[in-house]
Amino acid sequence: MATKLKSVDAVIVGFGWTGAVLARELTKAGLNVVAIERGGMRDTTPEFSAPMIHDELRFAIRHDLMQDASRETLTFRNNVNQTALPIRRWGSFLPGNGVGGAGVHWNGQHYRFAPSEFRIRSHYQERYGKKFIPEGMTIQDWPVTYDELEPYYDRFEYLCGTAGKAGNIKGVIQQGGNPFEGPRAREYPNPAMKRSFQMKMFEDATREMGFHPYVQPSSDVTQPYTNPEGVDMGSCVYCGFCERFGCEMSAKASAQSTLLPVLLKDPKFELRTLSHVTKVNLDSTRKKATGVTYVDSQGREFEQPADLVLLCAFVLHNARLMMLSGIGRIYDPKTGKGGVGRNYAYQMSSSVTAHFNDKVFNPFMGAGACAMIMDDFNYDNFDHGPLGFIGGSYLCVESKGQRPIDFRNLPPGEPRWGKGWKQSVSHWYNRTFVIAAFGSVTAQRGNYLDLDPNYKDGFGNPLLRMTFDFSKNDLDMSKYCTDRAADIAKHMNPDKMGINYRKGPYSIVPYQTTHTTGGTMMGADPSTSAVNRYLQSWDVSNVFVMGAGAFPQNPSHNPTGTVGALAYWAADAITKKYLKSPGRLVHT
Ligand SMILES: Cc1cc2nc3c(=O)[nH]c(=O)nc-3n(C[C@H](O)[C@H](O)[C@H](O)COP(=O)(O)OP(=O)(O)OC[C@H]3O[C@@H](n4cnc5c(N)ncnc54)[C@H](O)[C@@H]3O)c2cc1C
Ligand code: SF4
Repeated sequence: MATKLKSVDAVIVGFGWTGAVLARELTKAGLNVVAIERGGMRDTTPEFSAPMIHDELRFAIRHDLMQDASRETLTFRNNVNQTALPIRRWGSFLPGNGVGGAGVHWNGQHYRFAPSEFRIRSHYQERYGKKFIPEGMTIQDWPVTYDELEPYYDRFEYLCGTAGKAGNIKGVIQQGGNPFEGPRAREYPNPAMKRSFQMKMFEDATREMGFHPYVQPSSDVTQPYTNPEGVDMGSCVYCGFCERFGCEMSAKASAQSTLLPVLLKDPKFELRTLSHVTKVNLDSTRKKATGVTYVDSQGREFEQPADLVLLCAFVLHNARLMMLSGIGRIYDPKTGKGGVGRNYAYQMSSSVTAHFNDKVFNPFMGAGACAMIMDDFNYDNFDHGPLGFIGGSYLCVESKGQRPIDFRNLPPGEPRWGKGWKQSVSHWYNRTFVIAAFGSVTAQRGNYLDLDPNYKDGFGNPLLRMTFDFSKNDLDMSKYCTDRAADIAKHMNPDKMGINYRKGPYSIVPYQTTHTTGGTMMGADPSTSAVNRYLQSWDVSNVFVMGAGAFPQNPSHNPTGTVGALAYWAADAITKKYLKSPGRLVHT
C-alpha cells in the first residue's frame, strides 16, 4: 500500500538535463516543485574530483555513471519476425542514471538543427517531387519551426556557456562559422575550442577541396564564465576524460555546473534521489494525471500527488512510462496508428582512419566536444536528386582524448593479437586520427518502441521493447558520406587508411552514440503523434513529455541543443499559457 504524500504543484520524473531546466523555470514561476530521480546524488565535488574521476576501467568500461542494466533494461530485436531479448550490458548506447542524468557523462557537442529539418517532408517533396519519399518512410514535419525555437536555442546556449563561432547572424554569413546554419540572433557566449594538429589538417584539406569547415560548437567551456543564472563555470583543460566521465573543472555544462547551485538554495524546490517512478497516476476519466507512484531505496512505495507531471526521464523511459500508465495510444506498425512508440530512430555513424608514419598527434589530449567539422554533406546541403536517398552526415575530426584501454585504431591488415599487435599499437597510437561521419536516420514504419510481452523489471512491470533496423535509405546515405570522408583522407595523403562502413543489420553491441530519438514524438495530428507542439500529451493535458523522444526523426546532428531549446519552449508554454488556463494548448 503506497503512502500518500502532500500534494505539490509539479512533479518532475528524472533529474537530468530536461528535469533541471524545467525545475528552474517552474520554481521561478512560483510553483512548488519536487523532482524524483531514480539514481543517487552526485556533484562536481566530491564525486567528479580528479584523479579519481579519471578511472577508465570504472567509468568508461564498467559504466559506473550509467543505468544499471541488471536492475532495469530493455529488450531488442531488429524486426517483428524476431523475439526480442534483454540487453544485459550496454553497448550501442549508454543511458544515464543519477542526478544530472546522461548530461553528466555527455561530450558537450552542442548543435542546432538546420531550418529545413523542421519541415523535412515538405522540403524534400518541394525540391525533388512527391514520389521522392518512399513508401514506409514516416518522416514528418515538426509542428514547430526553426524561427520559433531560435530564442530558446539561444537561451540554452547561454545557460551552458557554449563555445563556438557563429556562421550566420541575422542572415549575414560570418567568416569561420558554419555557413549552412540557420540565422541566429547573436554570437556564441564563448570563443571556440582550440584546434589540435589533426583538426588543423582536416581544416586545411577540406578548405582546399572547396568545403566549409568550422570548429564544433562545444559546451565544454573555453574560459571562466558566469551564466545568466549567476553560476560560475570553469575553463576546460582538455583532460581527455570527458565522454563517460563527470567534469572536475565545472567546465562541461551539466545540471550540476549550470543550474543545481541555484535550485538547491530554492525553498520551492525539493530533489528526492534513489526513488524510482513506476507510473503516472490518472483519475477515473483517464484524462487527468493526479501525480506519480514511486519506490524508494528501501522498497517503500509512495504516491506523490501533483497538479502537473513532467516526464524528464530520457527518451526510452518517457515512452515506457507513458505506456505503463496508459497515456496515449501505443503505436501499431500494422495499422500505422497510435502515437506512443512511433518513429523511433537512432543516429548513424561510420569512420575512416588515416595513418601517418611521420606525424605525431598526441591523441590523449582533448575534450568531448573538440572537433573540426563540416556540413557540406549534411541535411539537404547537397543535391540528393541523382543520389536517391534522404538525409546526410556531418564529417569531422575529433580530438576527444584517446584513452589507453579503449582506443586502438590500427590500419587494415595489422596483426590482431600477440607481439605483432602490441608493436602495431605502440607505433600507430600516436600517428593516427579518425574522420567520423555522423548521419541522420529516417523514421520507418517498422521501427518503434512498445512493451515487451515476455520480460519484466524488478517491480514486475513489462520492459520496453525496441524494434529497430537501419533502412536501405540510411545505409545508402551512410555509404555515400563515408566515401566523401575517404576522399578527404586521401587528399591528406596518409601512409595507410581504413574505411569502416556502417553495415546492417543494426547491432546493439558496439557503442555508436546515445542519440536515440522518437517514441514520444511531437506532431500536429493526435492520431500519429504522442504530444503536441508544446510537448503536452494529447490525451492527458497536465502531462508534458520532454527530451529527444519528441523528434519525429533523427537529424544527423547531436540532440541536446534542441532538447534544451524544446525544454525552454515547453516551460514557456506551461508558465505563460497553461497555468493561466489549464487544459489542452492545441485544438485540432
Ligand atoms: C556517452 C554519451 C555522450 C553524449 N554526448 C552528447 C553530445 O556530445 N551532444 C549531444 O547533443 N548529446 C549527447 N548525449 C546525449 C545527452 O546526454 C542527452 O541528450 C541528454 O542528457 C538528454 O536529457 P534528458 O533530460 O532527456 O535525459 P537525461 O539527462 O538522461 O536525464 C534523465 C534522468 O531521468 C532519470 N530516470 C529515468 N527513469 C526514471 C524513473 N523511472 N524514475 C526516476 N528517474 C528516472 C535518469 O536516472 C536520469 O537521471 C550523450 C549521451 C551519452 C550517454
Ligand atoms: S575535457 Fe574539459 S570539459 Fe571535458 S571533463 Fe575534461 S576539463 Fe571537463
